[in-house]
Amino acid sequence: MPGSSPRGCSASPFVDNDHVIHGPVSEDNPICSAKGCRAAAVWVLAWNNPKLHTPERRKTWLACEEHREHLSQFLGVRGFLKDVVTLAAWEAEQAANRPADGDTDDGPAGPSA
Ligand SMILES: [Zn+2]
Repeated sequence: MPGSSPRGCSASPFVDNDHVIHGPVSEDNPICSAKGCRAAAVWVLAWNNPKLHTPERRKTWLACEEHREHLSQFLGVRGFLKDVVTLAAWEAEQAANRPADGDTDDGPAGPSA
């Protein structure tokens, strides 16, 4: 029985189709959502998975200057990416039109003092 050794096992230690995000957005200490990155977030990537979310829904990832391109591509190739704005611009926009529908699965959005 030649050639029957189980070579080429497809079990891979790499999981590249999972979310690279490591936690919900922290309003106090926004850091990059890239795996293993602890850099301060500069960019907000707004995205939407049409299979999971209604069209007006926006999920957000944060990105540092270095990972903005990487995370944008990750979402972009899946057709999820909707918008890329600076964190400052995003926060200003959120403050301007604060959602009132209680859609807060990223944690409670406490009132800003
Ligand atoms: Zn980063």
